[in-house]
Order: sequence, then C-alpha cells, then structure tokens
Amino acid sequence: MNAPHYEIYALKYAHHERRASENFIGGDPHDGPMPLDYFVWLIRRDGREIVVDTGFSAAMAQKRQREHLRCPAQSLQLLGVDASRVKDVVISHLHYDHVGNFELFPAATLHLQELEMRYATGRYMCSECFRGAFEVEDVVGMVRRVYQGRVRFHDGDAELFPGVSLHLIGGHTMGLQAVRVATRRGWVVLASDASHLYANMEQARPYPIVWSVADMLDGYARLRALADSPAHIIPGHDPLVLERYPAPAAALQGVVARLD
Ligand SMILES: [Zn+2]
Repeated sequence: MNAPHYEIYALKYAHHERRASENFIGGDPHDGPMPLDYFVWLIRRDGREIVVDTGFSAAMAQKRQREHLRCPAQSLQLLGVDASRVKDVVISHLHYDHVGNFELFPAATLHLQELEMRYATGRYMCSECFRGAFEVEDVVGMVRRVYQGRVRFHDGDAELFPGVSLHLIGGHTMGLQAVRVATRRGWVVLASDASHLYANMEQARPYPIVWSVADMLDGYARLRALADSPAHIIPGHDPLVLERYPAPAAALQGVVARLD
C-alpha cells in the first residue's frame, strides 16, 4: 500500500445496558445482557485531524436514558485535539447518537451522504419506525449547517484525502457511510452502524433499527471487501472494541482504544 499511514482512535463517550434480544431482528435465543458503547472516532496524521461523528450531549443522554460518560469534545481533548479547530468531520448518518453537538465543532466542514439528508427530511420520517432514532433538532441543525456552507455532500464512494475514503453502505439508514483508512496494519474500515456489534456482521443477524434489511446484509459483505481482513472492521457500538485494542496510555484504559 502506497497510501500514507493514519492513526485511528475509538473514543467511548456513553454506554447503555440492554438485552441481546434488543440487538438482533427476531431477538436472541440465549437472551442475556449485551450492552452498547457509544463512540466518536479520530483519524489523524501529521497535524491533519478528521473526526468521525459528533455524538450526543448530556441533555440528550438524559432524554434517551443513556449513560453519558463525557462530552465527545472532552474525549478528543484526552488526545490533545481541540474540537473547536477540527476542520473535517464525517457524519456516518444522522441518528441522534452520531450527529448533534454542532456548537462544539464551529470550524468543521461536515461530510454527509446526499441520500442521508434526503432520508432524514423526506417522506419516510412520517413513520415512527423510521424516525425513532432521529432527533428533529439534529436534522434541523444539519440543515442550518447546509445554509452556512459548512456541509459537503457526497454521492456514493468518495476519497476525502489520500488514504481516507467514504463509502455509501445504506441498510441501517438510507445514506449511512463507512470510512476506510490506510494504516500501518493495512486498510481499516470504521463501519459505524453498518454493523453495531461484531455479532451482527459475523453471524449475518441484522440490527432491528433498519431502513433496508437487504442493504444491511449486503453491507456486511461490502465491509469485508473494503477491509484487509474481518479483523480490520470496527463495529459502531461494540464494547469488545475496547478489549481487543490497546489504550494509547494506561490512564485511557476503557476510554480510548487505538485501532491502527
Ligand atoms: Zn448508533
């Protein structure tokens, strides 16, 4: 691989205790605890910083009854990143746990798939089953950023920088995108919610919040095609990520994992 090597970090900012049956269509025959972690991700190299997703605030955590551990901007500070100066933020999709906190990233251009904006502002939001994980103020906030000239729309696959590319996956939402990154261990793919947990993609058991089950299943294959191996795919919400990857410093154990 000739592309430059980036560092990638997963930064956990929230947590939710739940049952396995909530994480798979059709439930789980061996139902038991299967919590979700909430992350934002940092991709960086030589002073270039790209943040993937902006997370939710403490107020939103209270509304949605999630356990908020720290503001995503505080998480970034742990790695010496000033959120207010970050220039590029990739929004994987517009669900409440991936977008919002706009005021924390005033300098950023937000990278979004066109289809995701169409989905979040169009006819399907008339149905509770599709709009349940969206927050209207987050979507309106995104529209405001469009009018401020701070959104760059992508239509399908796109190279953001050499070694960092965006890939329309769909499935979970109409315009969900994953991020592929060149690293010292090869091509790593930040799946975000193209696969919430390792088990979703490994066992082909889709997560129940879904726009298209067919696209979600095709998405698992797409992730495998983009990554150098299944071990190069990072699911969006799996607590195992913090067990499988090392913390960059002892004090960040259980908070930040280095993925490259
Ligand atoms: Zn999510």
